[in-house]
Amino acid sequence: MVLSAAMDYRLPATVVPKRYDLRLEPDLVAATFAGEAVITVEVETTVTEIVCNAAELAIQSAALTRDGSVPIHGSITLDEANERARFVFPAAIAPGEWKLTLRFTGTLNDRLHGFYRSTYKDAAGAAHTIAATQFEATDARRGFPCWDEPAFKAVFGVTLVVAETLATVSNSAVAREESLGDGRRAVQFADTIRMSTYLVAFVVGELEATEPVMVGPTPVRVWCVPGKKALARFALDVGAYSLAFFERYYGLPYPGDKVDLLAIPDFAAGAMENLGAITFRENALLVNEAAASHAELERIADVVAHELAHMWFGDLVTMAWWNGIWLNEAFATFMELMAVDAWKPEWRRWTTFGVSRAAAMQVDGLEATRSIEYEVRNPHDCRAMFDLLTYEKGASVLRMLEQHLGPDVFREGVRLYLERHRYANAETTDLWRALGDASHQPIPAIMDGWIFKPGYPVVTVDLDGVGLKLSQRRFQYLGGETDRGQRWRIPVVLRAAVKRGYVERRLLLDGEEASVELPAKADWIVVNSGGHGFYRVRYGPALLKKLANAAMKIAPIERFNLLTDSFALAQAGLMPAVDYLDLTARFTAESDRNVWTALNSSLAHVNRLIRDELRGGLASLVRHRLAEKVSLLGWEVQEEETELDRQLRGDLLRTIGTLGDDEEVQARSREAYTRYRDDESSVDANVLPAIIAILATAGGEAEYSEFRDRFKNARTPQEEQRYLYALAGFRQAELLGQTLEMTLNGEIRSQDAPYVIRSLLGSVYGRGLAWDFIKGNWQVMARQYPESAYTRMYEGVSALVSADWEREVRAFFAENKIDLGGKTLPQYLEQLRVAVAFQEREAEALGAYLSRQKSR
Ligand SMILES: [Zn+2]
Repeated sequence: MVLSAAMDYRLPATVVPKRYDLRLEPDLVAATFAGEAVITVEVETTVTEIVCNAAELAIQSAALTRDGSVPIHGSITLDEANERARFVFPAAIAPGEWKLTLRFTGTLNDRLHGFYRSTYKDAAGAAHTIAATQFEATDARRGFPCWDEPAFKAVFGVTLVVAETLATVSNSAVAREESLGDGRRAVQFADTIRMSTYLVAFVVGELEATEPVMVGPTPVRVWCVPGKKALARFALDVGAYSLAFFERYYGLPYPGDKVDLLAIPDFAAGAMENLGAITFRENALLVNEAAASHAELERIADVVAHELAHMWFGDLVTMAWWNGIWLNEAFATFMELMAVDAWKPEWRRWTTFGVSRAAAMQVDGLEATRSIEYEVRNPHDCRAMFDLLTYEKGASVLRMLEQHLGPDVFREGVRLYLERHRYANAETTDLWRALGDASHQPIPAIMDGWIFKPGYPVVTVDLDGVGLKLSQRRFQYLGGETDRGQRWRIPVVLRAAVKRGYVERRLLLDGEEASVELPAKADWIVVNSGGHGFYRVRYGPALLKKLANAAMKIAPIERFNLLTDSFALAQAGLMPAVDYLDLTARFTAESDRNVWTALNSSLAHVNRLIRDELRGGLASLVRHRLAEKVSLLGWEVQEEETELDRQLRGDLLRTIGTLGDDEEVQARSREAYTRYRDDESSVDANVLPAIIAILATAGGEAEYSEFRDRFKNARTPQEEQRYLYALAGFRQAELLGQTLEMTLNGEIRSQDAPYVIRSLLGSVYGRGLAWDFIKGNWQVMARQYPESAYTRMYEGVSALVSADWEREVRAFFAENKIDLGGKTLPQYLEQLRVAVAFQEREAEALGAYLSRQKSR
């Protein structure tokens, strides 16, 4: 018999865990822990050995008992390379239920995975330590020996032994506490539901909790380090709302007995959906609502809703293996948007999601993209799944399907899926089956092209008599003219303006081409009407001209798509760059924040590929595009403005003051900041982050040292982030050099440092320095930074846009044999190739165009 290669990474299913009784004694001072696991296992066939996962643990003893029998002691072999423990017993173990008792010790590490320690300084400068866990994907095995695969679900009965003075939290409510008389107490938590190991959590430290907010029978609390409780209100509000929203949407009660949302000072990811004990980095949970910008609040609402969506989709029903991570994350992202959109309709979250969808389309337009779902053999390969394609493309195609089936039918299918698989595991095909049962439609036929194949189509649309001709092919930034025959089933919605009215057409474009009849000649047409489709549109020249003239008559998301698609076509060599820049001139009166985000980021991209002497010309173009709206919005909050308008004011001031180098805006920012020092309420919370960024761009040593102090003494996580990233926004090499030093000497936390370096790589003033710094220090970084963040740091190399840099970058990765997992590195390198090719192709035309701007 030939075993499939996947079996090499799978534990044998001859012995299956049913229940873990865990007792852990973390010592925060020594940074160690001791533990005992009594694992109730079902032996399926007679065995002489038991294999489970363990990593960086020392296991002192392993014994099997049955119905209180004399323990059978096993020998212990640890296989660090494969992260396994093997226990061999002197006698055959008969089928049936046994208890496996393991005693072990481990270290509270500094790598922010497994059972780790996080340190912080209080307001008085005293250092404190917290112990916390991050087990997804495969690090529960660093906390206790276990069957660390998502399909081995079990009940967990956890007891934590901690100092009397410390708080401790795990997945369920405290059932019993007992003082041990030695300054410690044993805290026993209620049994969990049947769940996967990667969802187990322990947190220990000097933490304080808010009063609970009740959602039905479920108490919701926020935990944080002492002194920050005042920053918890906003998260509690969105948390309570989302929990109730999901109970209604899913039609099932919350599966746990309480919800704790915990802010951890050192945290590698954004947040982690441990059932009932959701951990967050501080800036994804804690905020002073009155002093925060819309963008900062939106992020917290998103993350809190996302994690709570997982309590059902992920925790109650779990993927059978890591290839299903995409569905877990895509669905939680989709639900996060549903909940936040219901909570704050005025945030228009489905429109603002366009920015995220566009980001996924950037990656998915590469040769080095991947299908959303792919085979994962080694669990380490699933690391590469935590990316834009999983979260944003995944959520986009779910939204496209939901809109195609209708929201009620879609929800019905989701309910069926959860009902059928709760407390168990499921595959992607199980969701399709449930949605198919609810909708009576062939779901796999529609979805397979989007899920199991890489890339996405560009739909070309041309006039054909009175009607239209549509055709599809794969969109690619490189070699975009070659058609490789890949086709999708595209739910196309289009709208045509005819005779003072509109006609809408819906079709499933599943072949090469399709014709669309229209009742009369259209004034203009928009394909991907409503903007939910995960495809690009390339209009024929006549249609593009008409649509550009009518740009202000179409919906904001449609304008957004018109700009992002056009810029992508320019990057792919399918539209001249100067035509794109001309198109942006149609948007000077634009009022939608997302459209501006697309426009501003495309101009920032152009800035990275032009020669230094053209920066003045580009800055002048930026001022021309933004000036009208900036002067209309002014600096002060106006009466009937929405929150999005206020955020737009901040966004536009930031762009015109940095990329546009507008001296007047810079001078006014200086004045406003001076006022702010005396009276913090004198500057709107959406404008303050912009002012800080502008002062960094235009500032010098004085601003640098002030911002550095403010970063170190920040009162909120948001304030800390603003000043931290401002330290990467200066133009003087000497100051940027100091920022780089801080990324390694501990002044910037390892959870943030890689992102600060990435931000420096994105700056035309910092990228050369940051690149040299990486070349000199990458080995230290690889040791110090959390793995996921270290990987993302390198995304910044795609901003090193020159043929020389590109050669150097390729040589660097090749010589040092750096592999970032999956296709991550090939994607970064291809993004750089796309940019350099764009630069080479357009250098002359852009040079002439931007030189003319300068004299404006
Ligand atoms: Zn998630």
